[in-house]
Amino acid sequence: MSDCLFCKIVEGSIPSTKVFEDEHVLAFMDIMPLTKGHTLLIPKKHHENIYDMSSEEAAQIFSVVPKIAESLKTTFQSVGLNILNNNGAPAGQSVFHFHIHLIPRYDQTDGFKAIWHTKEKQYTSEMFAEYAEQIRMNLNK
Ligand code: AMP
Ligand code: ZN
Repeated sequence: MSDCLFCKIVEGSIPSTKVFEDEHVLAFMDIMPLTKGHTLLIPKKHHENIYDMSSEEAAQIFSVVPKIAESLKTTFQSVGLNILNNNGAPAGQSVFHFHIHLIPRYDQTDGFKAIWHTKEKQYTSEMFAEYAEQIRMNLNK
């Protein structure tokens, strides 16, 4: 895609600080890191988000995550890692070329705010059962 920032990074017309590359994927340092070592992993082929990818394409990119995770841990002696992927603007996606964030964690005040804040109980077990049934029905559509 000619107007996609990450496609330009893949082409090399916009610079990036690469950490890993193979035939299908590229990993580089996030320009506005949430913590030290924040890295992005992208497919070289343009996909807007997970809805735009086959399971094979998704498997291919996710299979690279452990290798980079291990290297970040060794490099930064980080003690945790958030693996994050935002799909769609309401989910916080700002660059519309699929990417996986790898965010090394050091402690709970290292700059990355926890996103899991349990709200007061608003779903019943009947609601969970109903949601699960609908999800199961839609799995193979
Ligand atoms: P998201 O909000 O999930 O779409 O994440 C987009 C990420 O891309 C943000 O963390 C940005 O800091 C990062 N980003 C934007 N432009 C660049 C760039 N030129 N090089 C590296 N990372 C970038
Ligand atoms: Zn792109």
